[in-house]
Amino acid sequence: MSEVRAVPEPFKIKMVEPLKKITREERQTALERAGYNIFLLKSNEVYIDLLTDSGTGAMSDHQWAGLMMGDEAYAGSRNYFHLQDAVKDIFDYNYAIPTHQGRGAEQVLFPILIKKPGQIVISNMHFDTTKAHVELAGGRAVNIVIEDAFDTEKYHPFKGDFDTGRLEAFIKEQGSDKIAFIIVTITCNSAGGQPVSMKNIKEVSEIAKKYGIRIFMDAARFAENAYFIKEREEGYADKSIKDIVKEMFSYVEGFTMSAKKDAIVNIGGLIGIKDDEELYTQASSRVVPLEGFVTYGGLAGRDMEALARGLHEGMDYDYLNYRVGHVRYLGERLREGGIPIQYPTGGHAVFVDAKKILPHIPFYQFPAVALANELYLEAGVRGVEIGSFLLGRDPDTGENLESPLELLRLTIPRRVYTYTHLDVVADALINIKDKASSLKGLEFTYEPKILRHFTARLKPVQ
Ligand SMILES: *Cc1c(COP(=O)(O)O)cnc(C)c1O
Repeated sequence: MSEVRAVPEPFKIKMVEPLKKITREERQTALERAGYNIFLLKSNEVYIDLLTDSGTGAMSDHQWAGLMMGDEAYAGSRNYFHLQDAVKDIFDYNYAIPTHQGRGAEQVLFPILIKKPGQIVISNMHFDTTKAHVELAGGRAVNIVIEDAFDTEKYHPFKGDFDTGRLEAFIKEQGSDKIAFIIVTITCNSAGGQPVSMKNIKEVSEIAKKYGIRIFMDAARFAENAYFIKEREEGYADKSIKDIVKEMFSYVEGFTMSAKKDAIVNIGGLIGIKDDEELYTQASSRVVPLEGFVTYGGLAGRDMEALARGLHEGMDYDYLNYRVGHVRYLGERLREGGIPIQYPTGGHAVFVDAKKILPHIPFYQFPAVALANELYLEAGVRGVEIGSFLLGRDPDTGENLESPLELLRLTIPRRVYTYTHLDVVADALINIKDKASSLKGLEFTYEPKILRHFTARLKPVQ
Protein backbone atom coordinates (compact mmCIF):
# COMPACT_ATOMS: atom_id res chain seq x y z
CA MET A 1 0.00 0.00 0.00
CA SER A 2 1.03 3.55 -0.55
CA GLU A 3 2.80 5.58 2.16
CA VAL A 4 1.28 8.83 0.96
CA ARG A 5 -0.96 10.51 3.54
CA ALA A 6 -4.31 12.05 2.71
CA VAL A 7 -5.55 15.26 4.38
CA PRO A 8 -9.18 14.50 5.35
CA GLU A 9 -12.03 16.42 3.74
CA PRO A 10 -13.54 19.21 5.89
CA PHE A 11 -16.98 18.56 4.37
CA LYS A 12 -19.44 15.75 3.80
CA ILE A 13 -21.13 14.82 0.55
CA LYS A 14 -24.86 15.44 0.52
CA MET A 15 -25.62 15.31 -3.17
CA VAL A 16 -24.05 13.08 -5.79
CA GLU A 17 -23.92 12.87 -9.56
CA PRO A 18 -23.65 9.26 -10.71
CA LEU A 19 -20.67 8.46 -12.94
CA LYS A 20 -20.96 5.70 -15.46
CA LYS A 21 -17.76 4.08 -16.62
CA ILE A 22 -17.89 2.97 -20.24
CA THR A 23 -15.81 -0.01 -21.46
CA ARG A 24 -12.35 0.22 -22.98
CA GLU A 25 -13.82 -0.69 -26.41
CA GLU A 26 -16.37 2.12 -26.09
CA ARG A 27 -13.60 4.52 -25.11
CA GLN A 28 -11.55 3.45 -28.13
CA THR A 29 -14.55 4.18 -30.39
CA ALA A 30 -15.16 7.53 -28.68
CA LEU A 31 -11.51 8.57 -29.03
CA GLU A 32 -11.47 7.66 -32.75
CA ARG A 33 -14.68 9.64 -33.27
CA ALA A 34 -13.05 12.57 -31.41
CA GLY A 35 -10.08 12.53 -33.79
CA TYR A 36 -7.77 11.56 -30.91
CA ASN A 37 -8.40 14.99 -29.40
CA ILE A 38 -9.81 14.83 -25.85
CA PHE A 39 -11.45 18.25 -26.28
CA LEU A 40 -13.87 16.56 -28.69
CA LEU A 41 -15.02 13.88 -26.23
CA LYS A 42 -18.43 14.20 -24.63
CA SER A 43 -18.28 14.58 -20.87
CA ASN A 44 -20.43 11.47 -20.38
CA GLU A 45 -17.72 9.46 -22.15
CA VAL A 46 -15.31 10.48 -19.37
CA TYR A 47 -15.11 8.82 -15.95
CA ILE A 48 -12.83 11.27 -14.11
CA ASP A 49 -12.56 14.66 -15.77
CA LEU A 50 -9.32 16.51 -14.99
CA LEU A 51 -9.46 18.81 -18.02
CA THR A 52 -9.81 21.97 -15.93
CA ASP A 53 -10.47 23.36 -12.46
CA SER A 54 -12.35 26.29 -13.99
CA GLY A 55 -16.05 26.42 -13.15
CA THR A 56 -15.97 22.72 -12.22
CA GLY A 57 -15.94 23.07 -8.42
CA ALA A 58 -18.76 21.87 -6.16
CA MET A 59 -20.59 24.73 -4.46
CA SER A 60 -21.46 24.41 -0.78
CA ASP A 61 -24.95 24.27 0.74
CA HIS A 62 -24.41 27.89 1.78
CA GLN A 63 -23.70 28.90 -1.83
CA TRP A 64 -26.67 26.92 -3.17
CA ALA A 65 -28.88 28.59 -0.57
CA GLY A 66 -27.52 31.91 -1.84
CA LEU A 67 -28.84 31.09 -5.31
CA MET A 68 -32.35 31.20 -3.89
CA MET A 69 -31.61 34.66 -2.53
CA GLY A 70 -30.94 36.04 -6.02
CA ASP A 71 -32.42 39.48 -6.63
CA GLU A 72 -32.38 39.55 -10.43
CA ALA A 73 -32.47 43.33 -10.72
CA TYR A 74 -30.90 45.16 -13.65
CA ALA A 75 -29.71 47.95 -11.38
CA GLY A 76 -28.83 47.92 -7.70
CA SER A 77 -29.40 44.23 -6.93
CA ARG A 78 -28.87 43.45 -3.25
CA ASN A 79 -26.52 40.65 -4.27
CA TYR A 80 -24.26 43.20 -5.96
CA PHE A 81 -23.97 45.02 -2.63
CA HIS A 82 -23.10 41.73 -0.91
CA LEU A 83 -20.37 41.26 -3.48
CA GLN A 84 -19.12 44.80 -2.96
CA ASP A 85 -19.08 44.22 0.83
CA ALA A 86 -17.06 41.02 0.35
CA VAL A 87 -14.49 42.84 -1.81
CA LYS A 88 -14.17 45.62 0.78
CA ASP A 89 -13.92 43.17 3.66
CA ILE A 90 -11.44 40.75 2.04
CA PHE A 91 -9.24 42.97 -0.13
CA ASP A 92 -9.94 46.36 1.43
CA TYR A 93 -10.77 47.70 -2.03
CA ASN A 94 -13.40 50.41 -2.60
CA TYR A 95 -14.66 49.32 -6.00
CA ALA A 96 -15.98 46.02 -7.39
CA ILE A 97 -17.27 45.39 -10.91
CA PRO A 98 -18.72 41.95 -11.69
CA THR A 99 -18.09 40.36 -15.11
CA HIS A 100 -19.23 37.12 -16.73
CA GLN A 101 -15.81 35.51 -16.16
CA GLY A 102 -12.10 36.40 -15.90
CA ARG A 103 -11.65 37.25 -19.58
CA GLY A 104 -14.60 39.65 -19.30
CA ALA A 105 -12.67 41.55 -16.63
CA GLU A 106 -9.61 41.57 -18.91
CA GLN A 107 -11.46 42.93 -21.93
CA VAL A 108 -12.93 45.77 -19.83
CA LEU A 109 -9.75 46.82 -18.00
CA PHE A 110 -6.79 46.24 -20.34
CA PRO A 111 -7.68 48.69 -23.16
CA ILE A 112 -7.87 51.47 -20.53
CA LEU A 113 -4.37 50.67 -19.30
CA ILE A 114 -2.69 50.12 -22.67
CA LYS A 115 -2.44 53.68 -23.96
CA LYS A 116 -0.36 53.25 -27.13
CA PRO A 117 0.01 50.38 -29.61
CA GLY A 118 3.09 48.29 -28.88
CA GLN A 119 3.14 49.03 -25.15
CA ILE A 120 4.34 46.12 -23.07
CA VAL A 121 2.58 44.28 -20.27
CA ILE A 122 4.88 42.34 -17.96
CA SER A 123 3.78 39.30 -15.97
CA ASN A 124 5.55 36.46 -14.23
CA MET A 125 3.68 34.34 -16.82
CA HIS A 126 0.56 35.46 -18.71
CA PHE A 127 -2.39 33.12 -18.75
CA ASP A 128 -3.46 32.48 -22.39
CA THR A 129 -6.61 34.67 -22.40
CA THR A 130 -4.69 37.35 -20.52
CA LYS A 131 -2.05 37.38 -23.25
CA ALA A 132 -4.78 37.41 -25.90
CA HIS A 133 -6.49 40.46 -24.31
CA VAL A 134 -3.15 42.29 -24.03
CA GLU A 135 -2.60 41.67 -27.75
CA LEU A 136 -6.19 42.57 -28.73
CA ALA A 137 -5.68 45.90 -26.96
CA GLY A 138 -2.57 46.52 -29.08
CA GLY A 139 -0.05 45.55 -26.40
CA ARG A 140 2.70 43.00 -26.20
CA ALA A 141 2.92 40.38 -23.43
CA VAL A 142 6.31 39.64 -21.84
CA ASN A 143 6.96 36.99 -19.16
CA ILE A 144 9.73 37.46 -16.57
CA VAL A 145 9.45 34.45 -14.25
CA ILE A 146 12.47 32.90 -12.48
CA GLU A 147 14.40 30.25 -14.44
CA ASP A 148 13.69 27.59 -11.80
CA ALA A 149 10.06 27.55 -12.98
CA PHE A 150 11.24 25.50 -15.98
CA ASP A 151 13.25 22.94 -13.99
CA THR A 152 10.53 20.40 -13.13
CA GLU A 153 12.66 18.40 -10.71
CA LYS A 154 14.21 21.24 -8.73
CA TYR A 155 12.52 22.19 -5.45
CA HIS A 156 11.75 25.88 -5.08
CA PRO A 157 9.03 27.03 -2.66
CA PHE A 158 7.87 29.90 -4.94
CA LYS A 159 8.37 28.90 -8.56
CA GLY A 160 5.92 31.63 -9.64
CA ASP A 161 8.24 34.46 -8.51
CA PHE A 162 9.33 37.21 -10.88
CA ASP A 163 13.04 37.42 -11.64
CA THR A 164 13.34 40.91 -10.14
CA GLY A 165 16.87 41.46 -11.49
CA ARG A 166 15.74 40.79 -15.05
CA LEU A 167 12.54 42.77 -14.46
CA GLU A 168 14.39 45.92 -13.49
CA ALA A 169 16.97 45.51 -16.27
CA PHE A 170 14.16 45.06 -18.80
CA ILE A 171 12.34 48.21 -17.62
CA LYS A 172 15.57 50.24 -17.82
CA GLU A 173 16.33 48.91 -21.28
CA GLN A 174 12.81 49.62 -22.62
CA GLY A 175 12.16 52.84 -20.70
CA SER A 176 9.16 53.02 -18.37
CA ASP A 177 7.01 54.80 -21.01
CA LYS A 178 6.97 51.58 -23.02
CA ILE A 179 5.49 49.57 -20.14
CA ALA A 180 1.69 49.73 -19.86
CA PHE A 181 1.48 47.84 -16.56
CA ILE A 182 2.73 44.87 -14.57
CA ILE A 183 0.35 42.02 -13.75
CA VAL A 184 1.24 39.50 -11.05
CA THR A 185 -0.41 36.13 -11.75
CA ILE A 186 -1.22 34.35 -8.46
CA THR A 187 -0.78 31.47 -8.42
CA CYS A 188 1.22 31.27 -11.63
CA ASN A 189 -1.09 28.99 -13.62
CA SER A 190 1.16 28.49 -16.66
CA ALA A 191 4.16 27.52 -14.49
CA GLY A 192 2.12 24.73 -12.86
CA GLY A 193 -0.04 26.61 -10.34
CA GLN A 194 3.15 27.75 -8.62
CA PRO A 195 2.89 30.40 -5.89
CA VAL A 196 4.45 33.87 -5.70
CA SER A 197 6.00 34.86 -2.36
CA MET A 198 4.96 37.95 -0.41
CA LYS A 199 8.56 39.14 -0.56
CA ASN A 200 8.49 38.95 -4.35
CA ILE A 201 5.11 40.70 -4.67
CA LYS A 202 6.45 43.48 -2.45
CA GLU A 203 9.72 43.82 -4.40
CA VAL A 204 7.90 43.90 -7.74
CA SER A 205 5.57 46.55 -6.33
CA GLU A 206 8.56 48.63 -5.20
CA ILE A 207 10.12 48.37 -8.66
CA ALA A 208 6.80 49.44 -10.20
CA LYS A 209 6.63 52.45 -7.88
CA LYS A 210 10.25 53.40 -8.54
CA TYR A 211 9.63 53.56 -12.29
CA GLY A 212 6.08 54.96 -12.12
CA ILE A 213 4.49 51.82 -13.60
CA ARG A 214 0.99 50.65 -12.70
CA ILE A 215 0.63 47.22 -11.07
CA PHE A 216 -2.29 44.77 -10.91
CA MET A 217 -3.00 41.20 -9.89
CA ASP A 218 -4.40 38.35 -12.02
CA ALA A 219 -6.13 36.94 -8.97
CA ALA A 220 -7.86 33.68 -10.05
CA ARG A 221 -6.11 31.62 -7.32
CA PHE A 222 -5.53 34.30 -4.70
CA ALA A 223 -6.49 32.05 -1.77
CA GLU A 224 -4.27 29.13 -2.79
CA ASN A 225 -1.39 31.60 -3.14
CA ALA A 226 -2.05 32.94 0.36
CA TYR A 227 -2.07 29.39 1.72
CA PHE A 228 1.38 28.69 0.24
CA ILE A 229 2.71 31.92 1.79
CA LYS A 230 1.39 30.84 5.18
CA GLU A 231 2.94 27.37 4.84
CA ARG A 232 6.25 28.23 3.21
CA GLU A 233 7.29 31.83 3.84
CA GLU A 234 9.09 32.94 6.96
CA GLY A 235 7.05 35.20 9.20
CA TYR A 236 3.59 34.14 7.97
CA ALA A 237 2.90 30.87 9.80
CA ASP A 238 0.85 32.62 12.50
CA LYS A 239 -1.03 35.00 10.20
CA SER A 240 -4.56 34.25 9.02
CA ILE A 241 -5.28 33.63 5.33
CA LYS A 242 -7.39 36.78 5.36
CA ASP A 243 -4.54 38.93 6.72
CA ILE A 244 -2.18 37.47 4.13
CA VAL A 245 -4.67 38.16 1.33
CA LYS A 246 -5.05 41.76 2.53
CA GLU A 247 -1.32 42.28 2.57
CA MET A 248 -0.84 40.78 -0.92
CA PHE A 249 -3.47 43.09 -2.40
CA SER A 250 -2.13 46.15 -0.54
CA TYR A 251 0.91 46.09 -2.87
CA VAL A 252 -1.14 46.47 -6.08
CA GLU A 253 -3.85 48.89 -7.20
CA GLY A 254 -6.40 46.51 -8.63
CA PHE A 255 -7.13 43.03 -9.97
CA THR A 256 -8.89 41.02 -12.61
CA MET A 257 -10.24 37.70 -11.36
CA SER A 258 -11.75 34.55 -12.78
CA ALA A 259 -14.12 33.61 -9.96
CA LYS A 260 -14.43 30.11 -11.47
CA LYS A 261 -11.34 29.02 -9.56
CA ASP A 262 -10.81 30.00 -5.89
CA ALA A 263 -14.25 31.59 -5.46
CA ILE A 264 -15.70 28.14 -6.33
CA VAL A 265 -18.53 29.26 -8.63
CA ASN A 266 -19.47 27.76 -11.97
CA ILE A 267 -19.48 31.15 -13.70
CA GLY A 268 -18.34 34.66 -12.77
CA GLY A 269 -15.51 37.17 -12.77
CA LEU A 270 -14.54 40.35 -11.05
CA ILE A 271 -12.60 43.60 -11.33
CA GLY A 272 -11.39 45.06 -8.05
CA ILE A 273 -9.98 48.59 -7.74
CA LYS A 274 -8.39 49.83 -4.53
CA ASP A 275 -9.10 53.57 -4.57
CA ASP A 276 -8.58 55.02 -8.06
CA GLU A 277 -11.94 56.63 -8.71
CA GLU A 278 -11.04 57.68 -12.23
CA LEU A 279 -10.06 54.15 -13.22
CA TYR A 280 -13.32 52.90 -11.72
CA THR A 281 -15.29 55.47 -13.74
CA GLN A 282 -13.52 54.46 -16.97
CA ALA A 283 -14.04 50.74 -16.29
CA SER A 284 -17.71 51.37 -15.42
CA SER A 285 -18.37 52.99 -18.77
CA ARG A 286 -16.71 50.12 -20.65
CA VAL A 287 -18.41 47.33 -18.74
CA VAL A 288 -21.90 48.46 -19.78
CA PRO A 289 -21.61 47.75 -23.53
CA LEU A 290 -19.30 44.74 -23.09
CA GLU A 291 -20.68 42.81 -20.12
CA GLY A 292 -23.77 44.53 -18.73
CA PHE A 293 -24.71 47.26 -16.30
CA VAL A 294 -22.13 47.91 -13.53
CA THR A 295 -24.25 46.22 -10.87
CA TYR A 296 -24.50 42.87 -12.70
CA GLY A 297 -21.77 42.66 -15.37
CA GLY A 298 -23.32 39.72 -17.23
CA LEU A 299 -24.25 37.78 -14.09
CA ALA A 300 -27.62 36.97 -12.57
CA GLY A 301 -28.17 38.22 -9.01
CA ARG A 302 -27.96 34.60 -7.83
CA ASP A 303 -24.53 34.19 -9.46
CA MET A 304 -23.24 37.29 -7.65
CA GLU A 305 -24.57 35.93 -4.35
CA ALA A 306 -22.80 32.58 -4.84
CA LEU A 307 -19.64 34.49 -5.76
CA ALA A 308 -19.78 36.77 -2.72
CA ARG A 309 -20.17 33.69 -0.50
CA GLY A 310 -17.52 31.72 -2.40
CA LEU A 311 -14.88 34.44 -1.93
CA HIS A 312 -15.15 33.94 1.83
CA GLU A 313 -15.38 30.13 1.69
CA GLY A 314 -12.37 29.81 -0.60
CA MET A 315 -10.21 31.39 2.13
CA ASP A 316 -11.12 28.94 4.87
CA TYR A 317 -7.88 27.48 6.22
CA ASP A 318 -9.18 23.94 6.73
CA TYR A 319 -10.57 23.89 3.20
CA LEU A 320 -7.29 25.18 1.70
CA ASN A 321 -5.23 22.74 3.75
CA TYR A 322 -7.35 19.89 2.35
CA ARG A 323 -7.37 21.37 -1.18
CA VAL A 324 -3.62 21.72 -1.52
CA GLY A 325 -3.13 18.39 0.30
CA HIS A 326 -5.50 16.69 -2.16
CA VAL A 327 -3.46 17.88 -5.15
CA ARG A 328 -0.20 16.99 -3.36
CA TYR A 329 -1.55 13.47 -2.68
CA LEU A 330 -1.85 12.76 -6.39
CA GLY A 331 1.61 14.23 -6.99
CA GLU A 332 3.18 12.11 -4.25
CA ARG A 333 1.49 8.91 -5.43
CA LEU A 334 2.89 9.54 -8.90
CA ARG A 335 6.38 10.32 -7.62
CA GLU A 336 6.32 7.19 -5.51
CA GLY A 337 5.38 5.25 -8.65
CA GLY A 338 8.29 6.71 -10.61
CA ILE A 339 6.29 9.22 -12.69
CA PRO A 340 8.17 12.52 -13.21
CA ILE A 341 6.11 15.62 -12.33
CA GLN A 342 6.60 19.37 -11.85
CA TYR A 343 7.82 19.44 -8.25
CA PRO A 344 6.70 20.58 -5.78
CA THR A 345 3.05 20.38 -6.83
CA GLY A 346 1.27 23.71 -7.00
CA GLY A 347 -2.25 24.76 -6.16
CA HIS A 348 -4.63 23.30 -8.69
CA ALA A 349 -3.05 20.58 -10.78
CA VAL A 350 -0.34 17.98 -11.14
CA PHE A 351 1.80 18.41 -14.27
CA VAL A 352 3.29 15.16 -15.57
CA ASP A 353 6.53 15.45 -17.53
CA ALA A 354 5.57 13.51 -20.68
CA LYS A 355 8.88 14.20 -22.43
CA LYS A 356 10.64 12.14 -19.74
CA ILE A 357 8.14 9.26 -19.99
CA LEU A 358 8.02 9.16 -23.80
CA PRO A 359 11.51 10.21 -24.97
CA HIS A 360 11.00 8.29 -28.26
CA ILE A 361 8.16 10.61 -29.40
CA PRO A 362 9.46 13.89 -30.93
CA PHE A 363 7.83 17.20 -30.00
CA TYR A 364 6.08 17.49 -33.39
CA GLN A 365 4.29 14.20 -32.67
CA PHE A 366 3.06 15.55 -29.32
CA PRO A 367 4.18 13.16 -26.52
CA ALA A 368 1.80 14.66 -23.93
CA VAL A 369 -1.18 14.18 -26.28
CA ALA A 370 -0.15 10.52 -26.70
CA LEU A 371 -0.03 10.20 -22.90
CA ALA A 372 -3.40 11.94 -22.43
CA ASN A 373 -5.02 9.61 -24.96
CA GLU A 374 -3.53 6.49 -23.39
CA LEU A 375 -4.69 7.63 -19.93
CA TYR A 376 -8.20 8.00 -21.33
CA LEU A 377 -8.11 4.54 -22.90
CA GLU A 378 -6.64 2.98 -19.77
CA ALA A 379 -9.02 4.41 -17.16
CA GLY A 380 -11.46 6.92 -18.68
CA VAL A 381 -9.49 9.80 -17.18
CA ARG A 382 -9.29 13.07 -19.14
CA GLY A 383 -6.20 15.23 -18.65
CA VAL A 384 -4.93 17.88 -21.05
CA GLU A 385 -1.73 18.56 -22.98
CA ILE A 386 0.25 21.70 -22.18
CA GLY A 387 3.06 21.55 -24.72
CA SER A 388 3.86 21.82 -28.43
CA PHE A 389 0.34 20.85 -29.58
CA LEU A 390 -1.06 23.82 -27.62
CA LEU A 391 1.79 26.13 -28.67
CA GLY A 392 1.05 25.90 -32.41
CA ARG A 393 3.16 27.08 -35.32
CA ASP A 394 5.48 30.00 -35.95
CA PRO A 395 3.29 32.54 -37.78
CA ASP A 396 6.20 33.52 -40.07
CA THR A 397 7.73 30.17 -41.03
CA GLY A 398 4.71 27.89 -40.51
CA GLU A 399 6.94 25.43 -38.62
CA ASN A 400 5.74 23.65 -35.49
CA LEU A 401 7.12 25.46 -32.45
CA GLU A 402 8.87 23.35 -29.82
CA SER A 403 7.62 23.92 -26.27
CA PRO A 404 10.31 23.87 -23.53
CA LEU A 405 8.13 21.38 -21.63
CA GLU A 406 5.73 18.65 -22.79
CA LEU A 407 3.30 18.36 -19.90
CA LEU A 408 0.13 16.41 -19.19
CA ARG A 409 -1.92 18.57 -16.82
CA LEU A 410 -4.16 16.74 -14.38
CA THR A 411 -6.34 19.56 -13.06
CA ILE A 412 -8.27 18.85 -9.88
CA PRO A 413 -11.78 20.35 -9.56
CA ARG A 414 -12.52 21.70 -6.08
CA ARG A 415 -14.45 19.44 -3.64
CA VAL A 416 -15.52 17.10 -6.48
CA TYR A 417 -13.40 13.92 -6.55
CA THR A 418 -12.38 11.64 -3.70
CA TYR A 419 -8.94 10.28 -2.85
CA THR A 420 -10.02 6.96 -4.36
CA HIS A 421 -10.60 8.74 -7.67
CA LEU A 422 -7.05 10.09 -7.47
CA ASP A 423 -5.79 6.55 -6.82
CA VAL A 424 -7.45 5.44 -10.06
CA VAL A 425 -5.56 8.19 -11.91
CA ALA A 426 -2.22 7.37 -10.27
CA ASP A 427 -2.57 3.59 -10.79
CA ALA A 428 -3.44 4.10 -14.46
CA LEU A 429 -0.41 6.29 -15.14
CA ILE A 430 1.91 3.94 -13.28
CA ASN A 431 0.58 1.07 -15.46
CA ILE A 432 1.15 3.10 -18.61
CA LYS A 433 4.76 3.80 -17.64
CA ASP A 434 5.60 0.10 -18.07
CA LYS A 435 4.37 0.05 -21.68
CA ALA A 436 5.46 3.60 -22.52
CA SER A 437 7.86 2.51 -25.26
CA SER A 438 4.95 1.04 -27.26
CA LEU A 439 3.01 4.34 -27.34
CA LYS A 440 2.90 6.16 -30.68
CA GLY A 441 3.00 9.86 -31.50
CA LEU A 442 0.28 11.64 -33.47
CA GLU A 443 -0.11 13.44 -36.78
CA PHE A 444 -2.80 15.79 -38.04
CA THR A 445 -5.68 14.78 -40.27
CA TYR A 446 -7.18 18.28 -39.83
CA GLU A 447 -5.37 21.30 -38.43
CA PRO A 448 -7.15 24.64 -37.95
CA LYS A 449 -5.12 27.84 -38.33
CA ILE A 450 -5.68 29.33 -34.87
CA LEU A 451 -6.11 27.74 -31.44
CA ARG A 452 -5.65 24.38 -33.12
CA HIS A 453 -5.72 22.30 -29.94
CA PHE A 454 -9.46 22.82 -29.42
CA THR A 455 -10.69 21.40 -32.73
CA ALA A 456 -7.79 19.63 -34.50
CA ARG A 457 -8.18 16.00 -35.54
CA LEU A 458 -5.31 13.55 -35.27
CA LYS A 459 -4.33 9.94 -35.86
CA PRO A 460 -1.55 7.78 -34.41
CA VAL A 461 1.63 7.72 -36.51
CA GLN A 462 2.09 4.22 -38.05
C1 LIG B 1 -8.87 31.07 -15.81
C2 LIG B 1 -7.92 32.18 -15.79
C3 LIG B 1 -8.16 33.39 -16.47
C4 LIG B 1 -9.38 33.60 -17.37
O1 LIG B 1 -10.55 33.46 -16.68
P1 LIG B 1 -11.89 32.83 -17.31
O2 LIG B 1 -12.84 32.84 -16.18
O3 LIG B 1 -11.56 31.47 -17.83
O4 LIG B 1 -12.30 33.76 -18.42
C5 LIG B 1 -7.23 34.40 -16.35
N1 LIG B 1 -6.10 34.23 -15.65
C6 LIG B 1 -5.82 33.09 -14.99
C7 LIG B 1 -4.56 32.96 -14.21
C8 LIG B 1 -6.72 32.02 -15.05
O5 LIG B 1 -6.42 30.88 -14.42
